[in-house]
Amino acid sequence: MRVAILSSEAVPYAKTGGLGDVAGALPKALRETNGADAALILPLYETTDRNLLGSLIIDNLEVEWHAGGSTPTRVFYSTTTGAPAFLIDAPRYFARPGIYGYRDDYERFAFFCRAALALLKRLGNPPDVVHGNDWHSGFAIAELAARRHYDSFYSNTRTVFSIHNLAYQGAFDPAELPRLGFANEWQTFETDGTASGMKAGLAAADVISTVSRRYALEIQMPEHGYGLDWLLRLRRDRLVGITNGIDYDVWNPATDPHTAARYDANDLGGKGICKLDLLRQFNLPEESARPIVASISRLIPQKGYDLIREAAVSILESGAFFIALGSGARENEDFLQALRDYAPHRVGVYLGFNEQLAHKIEAGADIFLMPSLYEPCGLNQMYSTRYGTVPVVRATGGLDDTVQNFDRARGDGNGFKFERYSTGAMVESLYEAVYCYHDREAWRKIQWNGMREDNSWQRAARRYTELYHAAARM
Ligand code: ADP
Repeated sequence: MRVAILSSEAVPYAKTGGLGDVAGALPKALRETNGADAALILPLYETTDRNLLGSLIIDNLEVEWHAGGSTPTRVFYSTTTGAPAFLIDAPRYFARPGIYGYRDDYERFAFFCRAALALLKRLGNPPDVVHGNDWHSGFAIAELAARRHYDSFYSNTRTVFSIHNLAYQGAFDPAELPRLGFANEWQTFETDGTASGMKAGLAAADVISTVSRRYALEIQMPEHGYGLDWLLRLRRDRLVGITNGIDYDVWNPATDPHTAARYDANDLGGKGICKLDLLRQFNLPEESARPIVASISRLIPQKGYDLIREAAVSILESGAFFIALGSGARENEDFLQALRDYAPHRVGVYLGFNEQLAHKIEAGADIFLMPSLYEPCGLNQMYSTRYGTVPVVRATGGLDDTVQNFDRARGDGNGFKFERYSTGAMVESLYEAVYCYHDREAWRKIQWNGMREDNSWQRAARRYTELYHAAARM
């Protein structure tokens, strides 16, 4: 099975969120688990570490592109992640300070897709499956659906399209479609007067997946469907939910190079050292009997930050420290700074993106708070359980699939969750967690349950392989 995975970001080359983690880990897991010939294709950004580039394999990739201006394109080949990665170097579109957020994003990623398909052709062996991720890859899915009818190279290639977050669709004016080379695909791209890579991917893919079972159901309803729920209902026989794995090479308390000490489910001694190190890191008093409630997240409404703001004083009243790492909406950043000024001995805040600190927090904290409004899968709750940090989450999307309420009588469950999106419900759940934290035996049990879970990519990779085979049979 030859699979080309297209993604706008992938660890370690580029990351802004969960998609980067997933695209970085999946190709390697597919190769290791099933011996699939999986390769990653992504753009080369200005921010990509030049030491990861590997070798220049194509000096001048010919891409059929008529959206004005010349677009010289090179391709680098790297095996840093343990799986081949092809990095498309097109400075006109990608030599910019950021990964996303430009007026012409739709054009940038339409070009990336066109270049990726040109690259596959240049490499010479048709892929069995092209696996696109989120709206950025939707252009390639649409193009393949058309191309297979007239281009013998792609006549047997099937497509899988994965939704990592339906809210981001990459909408643009449908009048732009001819410039992007899609003069006849209006219907594929358009909905309600706008065109988008997301709509095209969903309309044209042979198989659709998303990153948890519950999210696969939620996006079929208007509340979480972002205007495309009708299409997902229409195509639901092709839609499956596969919960993301986590990369235990990167997120493993027994081997983590970023933390002050190593530990595992059998011996949690090192976690205490990590906790003290974390408190020191934030200039907080070394009161290790107090629980640390932590949050690592983009500071946006999706992540439930309005609940955290409303409940901040209640969190502190529980006796806990509160440590937050994140960046995003100005009002949330300002709030966190004000909260730290209000209670400097109980609150630690780092505004910005800091991968190493994320590891230190997972290892040193006791409780991980994730009250998302919606959450396609969510990774931090799974990192948390692995690190013996107990998640308190809202029961939505992947959070609902991966966190089970602790049941004291039966001794099962790996965290705490609440249904209603309300401050009251969140605080109630959090207080239950803090209460349990002071019962050492119960706490140890919850930690043990979480740390022993198998959320590995191997498991998810097996499901993706089944999906690829299903697509190939179509
Ligand atoms: P999303 O993709 O919606 O942001 P996920 O939970 O799927 O949410 O993935 C978030 C990823 O980004 C995790 O690996 C998390 O640790 C990381 N992350 C988010 N914000 C930061 C930050 N400020 N610093 C470091 N890592 C962060």
